[in-house]
Amino acid sequence: MKMRLFVCTVFFLVFALSGFSQSISITTRPNTPPKLVVGIVVDQMRYDYLMRYWSKFSEDGFKRLVNGGLNCENTHYNYVPTYTGPGHASVYSGTTPAYHGIVANDWYSREENKIVYCSEDLSVSAVGGNVLSGTMSPKRLMASNISDELRLASQKKSKVIGIAIKDRGAILPAGHTPNAAYWFDGKSSGNWMTSTYYMTDLPQWVKDFNAMGRAQEYLSKPWETLLPIESYTESTPDETSYEGLFKTETKPVFPHNLPTISSVSGVGLLAATPFGNTFTTEFAKAAIIGEKLGQDEYSDLLAVSFSSTDYVGHQFGTSAIETEDTYLRLDKDLADFLLFLDKNVGKKDYLIFLTADHGGAYNTTYMKDNRIPAGNYRLDSLKIRLERFLKPYYGDSIVTAVTNDQVYFNKNRINKFYINSRELEEKSVGFLMNQEGVTGVLRGYDIANQDYSEILNLKIKNGFQPNRSGDLVIKYAPGWLEYGNTGTTHGSYYNYDTHVPLLWYGWKIPVGTISGYNRITDIAPTLSFILNIPLPNASTGEPIQAILQH
Ligand code: ZN
Ligand code: ZN
Ligand code: ZN
Repeated sequence: MKMRLFVCTVFFLVFALSGFSQSISITTRPNTPPKLVVGIVVDQMRYDYLMRYWSKFSEDGFKRLVNGGLNCENTHYNYVPTYTGPGHASVYSGTTPAYHGIVANDWYSREENKIVYCSEDLSVSAVGGNVLSGTMSPKRLMASNISDELRLASQKKSKVIGIAIKDRGAILPAGHTPNAAYWFDGKSSGNWMTSTYYMTDLPQWVKDFNAMGRAQEYLSKPWETLLPIESYTESTPDETSYEGLFKTETKPVFPHNLPTISSVSGVGLLAATPFGNTFTTEFAKAAIIGEKLGQDEYSDLLAVSFSSTDYVGHQFGTSAIETEDTYLRLDKDLADFLLFLDKNVGKKDYLIFLTADHGGAYNTTYMKDNRIPAGNYRLDSLKIRLERFLKPYYGDSIVTAVTNDQVYFNKNRINKFYINSRELEEKSVGFLMNQEGVTGVLRGYDIANQDYSEILNLKIKNGFQPNRSGDLVIKYAPGWLEYGNTGTTHGSYYNYDTHVPLLWYGWKIPVGTISGYNRITDIAPTLSFILNIPLPNASTGEPIQAILQH
């Protein structure tokens, strides 16, 4: 003990003498961790929505989290592409696609010679839902998650459950070793389902929930605005050319007749309405009761992702009344969920973090109408033009895929015909640099082997996994989207896609605001210290000091 004290003193002196200012935590270890951690990911939520809709939010939802917790207001994604699969994987693994391997939602796999989906696994099958929605598992996730570390550290006494309408929003957060991940069968039944990766039969509480037929019930009434429509002054008028249409509709306006639309679109329509989030909240509550989460000394983790905000955002864009209404309704769902947690887990015994898997851009026509540069591009037509350009030099099919702003060349052909790949890449870079909206092209070889410090190039490097990513990465100008004229999308390294909320609430979380830069990869390591468990194996983030020192 004396020896230890001596060593500590020496270390302290070395730090002091070297002028290294390191603040010392007043917290003793190990602390008492929360009984339940609820991770909430709001799909496509930009940070500025919190501020834009502030005056319309209730006191008990988003405002309760901000006013009673810690708002890390300058939190960003630190890689591209900013898509759902990589986003969820990065939040829970504390690292970027370069290390967790979820380089996009879908990418070209050289091994399998096809486009693969991030949570696809043909070796497992559906449990409780449509066969096509059941071939899903976390097998393509290359790193451990905070969820895995919690399970390993507790000899699996801690429970971990992932829930989202989108399978990838449930599967990637829940990691490799959870009790379960559940997602929505929008193809046929409208039920919560899973795959044989997790279990062979649904638990009774899931069957009971499904038996209520809630999905169909939500679609039995029209979607009207929560508040009088004239009060949505934070949004553009209800009818604009920036918004997409539901099937059967001729104008993008309220009320949206869900019974008529769902008679054509099917029960999957629920995902694209705010009621998909309410449906998710209800199921999350049922999971807490059904699995007795947060009831014993082993901390549990419930990972909930609200997917409907993304569907609504894609269809209507970031400025529509439909989008605002979806957030006002999510605010009510959150308020309801928080009250439920107060009652069933206890105010100081749960910890919530709320973030998003990416943001979203303004609609390109809306930007142009406001005289801000923007544009649309199509990678499928770019592929055709690039192939046409390369054909005289290399013949047909030298380009295998152009996806996620990346070009994949045909490696078999390159090897077979001794093609000089450096020359092929240089010719292609020359061609691509002349395309509208393109500001640069990086070679995969350079990305993998060079040290990038420039912030946007570093984001490319952080998102680049040599076995899974392409041979060239194309950079587009701000405001340029691979999307149509209505609605919007995300995926870039610009602020509209990277700046997301990060709110911490409950347990011993201090009240306040952090304006310094935080990376999305800081969440998982912070949780490791809160839960007294190892860091996820490839975590590259840093724990948030304000939380740990409190
Ligand atoms: Zn998403
Ligand atoms: Zn509208
Ligand atoms: Zn999306």
